[in-house]
Amino acid sequence: MKLPYAEPYKIKATEAIRTSTREEREQWLKEAHYNLFNLRSEQVTIDLLTDSGTGSMSDKQWAAVMCGDESYAGASSYFRLKETIQRIFGMPYFLPTHQGRAAENVIFSALLKAGDIVPGNSHFDTTKGHIEFRKCHAIDCTIDAAADTQLEIPFKGEMDLDKLEKVFQSYPKEQIPCTVLTITNNTAGGQPVSMRNIRETAELCRRYEIPLLIDSARFAENAYFIKTREEGYADKSIKEIVAEIYSYADIMTISAKKDGVVNMGGFVAMRDADLLRRATSFCIMNEGFVTYGGMSGRDMDALAVGLDENTEYEQLHARIHQVQLLGELLDEYGIPYQRPAGGHAIFLDAKKILPNLPKEQYVAQTLSCELYLEAGIRGTEIGTLLADRDPETRENRYPKLELLRLAIPRRVYTDNHIRVIAAACRNIFERRDEITSGYRITFEAPILRHFTVELEKL
Ligand SMILES: *Cc1c(COP(=O)(O)O)cnc(C)c1O
Repeated sequence: MKLPYAEPYKIKATEAIRTSTREEREQWLKEAHYNLFNLRSEQVTIDLLTDSGTGSMSDKQWAAVMCGDESYAGASSYFRLKETIQRIFGMPYFLPTHQGRAAENVIFSALLKAGDIVPGNSHFDTTKGHIEFRKCHAIDCTIDAAADTQLEIPFKGEMDLDKLEKVFQSYPKEQIPCTVLTITNNTAGGQPVSMRNIRETAELCRRYEIPLLIDSARFAENAYFIKTREEGYADKSIKEIVAEIYSYADIMTISAKKDGVVNMGGFVAMRDADLLRRATSFCIMNEGFVTYGGMSGRDMDALAVGLDENTEYEQLHARIHQVQLLGELLDEYGIPYQRPAGGHAIFLDAKKILPNLPKEQYVAQTLSCELYLEAGIRGTEIGTLLADRDPETRENRYPKLELLRLAIPRRVYTDNHIRVIAAACRNIFERRDEITSGYRITFEAPILRHFTVELEKL
């Protein structure tokens, strides 16, 4: 008999999960005004709100925490992280920041001026925020196929090179301070970018003399997809693939809360010493002195170990296997989600699951409440609440898709938890005809309403 698959780790410390009754959850959800962000974490059984900063560190990372050097300047923790970044990414210079958006703040302060154009493949929302805050424009050059939820292609997060070249031809190079390539493409559902597309994007950037910045939150998951899906990479190690990816980049920003498998942290790294000088002032002003920036010494040590561990195939396989297992179970039960399963999350297609619900009643939000009531599972609405209102008319901007994102934290839940999630989805799917009413908003903030919105049941 072929031995079944098992995780490449065993568990040394556990954290109790509080279970609850449906009556308790009904009460708590009502008190939370039907907004899952308002729940206390003890009221949640399986928390799939995000995979950011929610991963579980290894014993080696915890051991590294004890070795942290908290010196203000020149801490040995900084040099250990610097050595790791040089070895894994080949980037000679870096500045530590407290998370990914802080890295964006530091580098965009040095690079962007009002009126600039920053093309990319679906800029992440904080990236777009930092670009637009500086009165610059983010132009989306993602391939059209990314918008088709049922299309199964291996690299659905790619840059459309024709769209990118059109942008390069439409503006002088002085107005395009960089191109942002996000791997994996978070906004398109954690979909990867092939090495070929990374290389060709870099070649095009080089031809037009525009620096390439890789937004690297899930770089290791992207490398896993290159190894398992792209011809010519099956026999290469994840570290070899990562080294090739970054040989094409001039700058990288990273939220270490994802593939760094730490609870907080990030950095910006680059090849150009002059750019480092300019960025350094913004790091010192907004984050901290160059050898710690936004991180304590112990956090830098935990990150150095996390980067090394999470660029090993077995670690990535264990993680992506869980996301794929959830996708396979949903397939078995006939439940529609955005295909193929991405690297860090499954996106349930709420409109297809609850076809009888009018869009005015918040379809994905209704599904997220149902999943919480069913099994205490917390996902994130990626639908009308998130899309918010038109800034001029103040009317709802109904998006094409109503999705419920189920993000899987790294090394936190077991396959049994995944089976519970799939079964809960199935129970809702089986009684979908009974779900005929949703919610109405009773309070909404002027911007970013989804975090604090209050609703009532119709
Ligand atoms: C999370 C993320 C960011 C921002 O990082 P934070 O650590 O949340 O500030 C930027 N880009 C991508 C692709 C991300 O997933």
